[in-house]
Amino acid sequence: MSKEFSTFKKVIRLPHKYGAGPTFTRFYEGLKQGKIYGTKCPECGDVLVPSRSMCPKCHVNLSEWVEVSQEGVIVSWAQTDKDFFGKPGQGTYTVALIRLDATGCDFLHLLGGNLSKVKTGSRVKAVWNEEKKGHMLDIKYFEPK
Ligand SMILES: [Zn+2]
Repeated sequence: MSKEFSTFKKVIRLPHKYGAGPTFTRFYEGLKQGKIYGTKCPECGDVLVPSRSMCPKCHVNLSEWVEVSQEGVIVSWAQTDKDFFGKPGQGTYTVALIRLDATGCDFLHLLGGNLSKVKTGSRVKAVWNEEKKGHMLDIKYFEPK
């Protein structure tokens, strides 16, 4: 014998803290200094940003840190007004996969500034917030050049 219960659709927001671990902690410390760091794979030579502790291609531990360029190229982008919990700012926003110069992976971040020049392949550069907290949004956005 089964009993049916009423169900309700709800959104549950669950503020929490998490341990960033040693690799992301060091990455965030770099952001706090206005620098972007990646980790370099000794096997394939890829520089991964945000930094990783292991190369996803070669499965080797990464311990070499390199400061990377604050400029790169838009690989893909999207613009939307969809809200999500923790969304920075209000209204429409533009996100992009950015390949920073001389790195081996794409970096997901916001685009801002003059967006009339946004297209796949556009060059962008990091624009920093004045106050840095050791957070991904220390980089305010990437702006087309
Ligand atoms: Zn590798």
